[in-house]
Amino acid sequence: MLPKWVARKPARNEARYLKYGFVPMAFQGFVCPRCGNGLNAGPGHQPNYCDRCGQKLDFKGIGWGPGMEERAEGRGDWREQVEDRVV
Ligand SMILES: [Zn+2]
Repeated sequence: MLPKWVARKPARNEARYLKYGFVPMAFQGFVCPRCGNGLNAGPGHQPNYCDRCGQKLDFKGIGWGPGMEERAEGRGDWREQVEDRVV
């Protein structure tokens, strides 16, 4: 594994949750490639380091397209995929 001071691209992670308790929602965000910690990153703010393990992060070239926005899932299979996250 690379030393954590070598910048790495954050990993994409799609989280799912129930809005209002019954509306399945999907939200695409980023997690630390080293420890999987959720990163509070968006078009206006990208952390330089993971606040849990200190992994240096490189957001260069990351696209902030429409997929980054909260959207209604519209499918009924979110329960099966809720554990499906990049570690
Ligand atoms: Zn980390």
